[in-house]
Amino acid sequence: MSGEARQPVTGMLLPAADDEDAAAFWRWCAAGELRVQQCAACGALRFPPRPLCPHCRAFDHDWARLSGRGTVWSWVVAHPPLLAAYAEQAPYNVVVVTSDDDPAIRFVGNIVESPGDRLDHVDPHRIAIGDPVEVVFEPVEDGLALPRWRRRTT
Ligand SMILES: [Zn+2]
Repeated sequence: MSGEARQPVTGMLLPAADDEDAAAFWRWCAAGELRVQQCAACGALRFPPRPLCPHCRAFDHDWARLSGRGTVWSWVVAHPPLLAAYAEQAPYNVVVVTSDDDPAIRFVGNIVESPGDRLDHVDPHRIAIGDPVEVVFEPVEDGLALPRWRRRTT
């Protein structure tokens, strides 16, 4: 951490980090690790977090650590009308990233150069489907960090 004072996040929609199914996901993000549920019965990975395995309906699961590497599967450019905190940063990219560990695992997020960048920091027209990316975590409040994505060259 740089120790720099961060602006408080106001007006942004933040996840319910105490959601029963998703709480562990957010705790891992706050710890700088991207993890998804892995079924204890059949081994399938699943995301977003949910109570049971969509493949075998088992409830028991672990939290498997992913490499954090992924590929841009799709993207759009967000324009107003948006909530005020987002409209102020528009236009910005919204990407769907598939995990390189399991392409069935997809995350919705934003491409930035560094955690803490504004959402419009990266020109969305420089983003292409197939771009290789890696996760970075942006602390937004005490105990909560959002996964974002930055392009990688290898
Ligand atoms: Zn299963």
